[in-house]
Amino acid sequence: METTPVRTSAAAAPGAALQAPLTDPCVHCGFCLPSCASYRVLGTEMDSPRGRIHALKAIEAGELALDATVARHFDSCLGCLACVTACPSGVRYDQLIEATRPKLNAPELRSPAAQAFRRLLFALLPYPRRLRIALAPLRAYAGTPLQGLARRSGLTRLLGPQLEAMERLLPPLAPETFRDGFPVVVPARGERRARVGLVLGCVQRLFDPQVNAAAVRVLSANGIEVVIPPEQGCCGAVTHHQGEEAHTRALADALVASFEAVLGPGRPGGAEPLEAVLVAASGCGHTMKAYDRLASGDFPAPVADIHEFLARLGLSQEFRQRLQPLPHPDGTQASAERPLTVAFHDACHMLHGQGIEAQPRQLLRAIPHLRLAEPMEAGVCCGSAGIYNLVQPQEAAELGRIKAADLAATGAELVSSANIGCTMQLRRHLDGEAAAALPVQHPIQLLDQSWRAGVEA
Ligand code: SF4
Ligand code: SF4
Repeated sequence: METTPVRTSAAAAPGAALQAPLTDPCVHCGFCLPSCASYRVLGTEMDSPRGRIHALKAIEAGELALDATVARHFDSCLGCLACVTACPSGVRYDQLIEATRPKLNAPELRSPAAQAFRRLLFALLPYPRRLRIALAPLRAYAGTPLQGLARRSGLTRLLGPQLEAMERLLPPLAPETFRDGFPVVVPARGERRARVGLVLGCVQRLFDPQVNAAAVRVLSANGIEVVIPPEQGCCGAVTHHQGEEAHTRALADALVASFEAVLGPGRPGGAEPLEAVLVAASGCGHTMKAYDRLASGDFPAPVADIHEFLARLGLSQEFRQRLQPLPHPDGTQASAERPLTVAFHDACHMLHGQGIEAQPRQLLRAIPHLRLAEPMEAGVCCGSAGIYNLVQPQEAAELGRIKAADLAATGAELVSSANIGCTMQLRRHLDGEAAAALPVQHPIQLLDQSWRAGVEA
């Protein structure tokens, strides 16, 4: 496979210092408005990038106070960065919102209930061990007829909008949810072409554990040795997107330390250098690429999204030769006459945050008789946005319905998403609500499935 140059978006530039006034380049043209997810569902200027930039200018000038009302218009921002891509004047809204988020955490700006809910999320989501303990009693509920009954009967509405939103995202809990089960080093199959580290992601490894299993198989089958520190936790993306700076630094430092603990002479990961630290969840990749300013130290190798790395290295000849067509939902195999139509969903932190667009499509096209369909509004957020679909459930649900309808309108039989938050949001809204039920799978899972079919043939 040929090498793909990585397009680096403005938002991906790490370590850019905040200089006042970043709001200056905004000429109020409004080109960013159609791509703005919060403006799409709320329809008010104050909930658009232009309106927020205007508010920031007024705050800078001392003409407006950041009170609870103004803060609500910043809380409605999903941080999707679509406005950064859309802006012809190069306004760095990503830096503006990142600098503003910590100020929104002042206790007087949110209700005690909202603060308590956020504290609960930040105490649970970034900690796989705690989350596993919390999820254990739900094994008898998640994915069972009982869950369907509770939803249909309206019982889940009694939980209130935020807990109901959590319940609606809860997937069936596989045994792998409760254990990682990877060795520290997974050797390359055949001749070794590269050696990398792998970050499992905190939410991904619990709610979609098959993604990491597929990633490890695909990397190994492509001649890539994989080092997986067993004590790794959250990368800090969940807290970073909410301006929880100290918490983010602590999580990032712990993740870096988990790699240091296994690498080196006499350690289980060995002393040989890594070429990259990979991750298969794009929200995590976006945060990890900014560790030079978010963490006290950095990884032993540059961070890369798994698609970015695989496209750059190229799939091995042996791997490509094994790839087989995938089945249609009716079980028949895709063919030249009847290809499998897949809609790829661009996660915001992959597309706008890291400038990664071609690479996952390039990998998917390696699968025989797979046809890619492009949704009309690929650059608009699905409403997941970290914890946004939990703390702003109504707006997120509306965006989820819009995205589900857009994806379904492509005529795809399957949707592919490379970010766990988007995957959970899409599964919820593609589950027969706004459109016909469509399965959602990670591109690496599809690649793995295609390769395994060739190995087993
Ligand atoms: S942020 Fe950019 S696109 Fe949006 S109004 Fe300002 S100059 Fe125009
Ligand atoms: S980050 Fe997304 S939601 Fe926020 S202003 Fe920009 S486009 Fe709108």
